[in-house]
Amino acid sequence: MPELPEVETVRRGLTNLVAGRTVESTEVRWEKTVGGFTAEEFDQALRNQTILKIDRRGKYLLFRFTGGITMVSHLRMEGSYYTVPAGTKPGKHDLVTFHLDHGVDLFYRDTRKFGRMNIVPNDQVMTVAGLATIGPEPTEDTLTLDYMISEFGKSKMHVKPFLLNQNHIAGLGNIYVDETLWQSKIHPLTAANQLTTDELAILRKNIIAELARATEHHGTTVHSFTNVFGNAGEFQNELQVYGRVGEPCLRCGEPLVKIKVAQRGTTYCPVCQIERTK
Ligand SMILES: [Zn+2]
Repeated sequence: MPELPEVETVRRGLTNLVAGRTVESTEVRWEKTVGGFTAEEFDQALRNQTILKIDRRGKYLLFRFTGGITMVSHLRMEGSYYTVPAGTKPGKHDLVTFHLDHGVDLFYRDTRKFGRMNIVPNDQVMTVAGLATIGPEPTEDTLTLDYMISEFGKSKMHVKPFLLNQNHIAGLGNIYVDETLWQSKIHPLTAANQLTTDELAILRKNIIAELARATEHHGTTVHSFTNVFGNAGEFQNELQVYGRVGEPCLRCGEPLVKIKVAQRGTTYCPVCQIERTK
């Protein structure tokens, strides 16, 4: 699943390609993608509206249109956008076409069909499910240590699933949680409320820095993620634990191990990330 750096990479690419373009019409070939709308209602809502800009909140893309409306788009596992010359025949995984002015079509492709789009008035964006409860963006200004101390202190949940839950901090997924826990020398099964203030300060710093660094590298390419220019991100070459099970820890040389935590494959160093006795 694309995480914050990958979605931000998509946002930047899409901004270059389609900001300022007007939707002439749309075609929805899989209505569940625009759940809540029929293909015709979706078309009526966007027809003749111009994409002013594209914002992002957590893993959500927010297409700001004229007419006071926003299209909220979540890519889930495999969703992606790309532009083609008008008249290009869609493939079987191209679920939605946005016919834009100046002879450009924007295709939404989704092999797994889990991605969703929703159109809402601007003032209702933050009531959309998922956004209504989303945690702060992982930046220096928005993710404060005071917030972390209070939020982690309230939960006995293992820190791995705690960080995957977007209501605590926005934008993290399996890759960047494993990376930042390794960097912070925190075992993934540590209870959130067992972390000390010092550990939370280190974890916070690592989360903010890691996501910024991954964004600079245009995200990580795993499975089918490619950015809107059809290029792969480069950050997979920078990963320190994810995908490296059995390989030596880059800090201590011990082979990394993989366990399941809340159904998610989790790679860590059994020497650097010590499991805490309760
Ligand atoms: Zn180690």
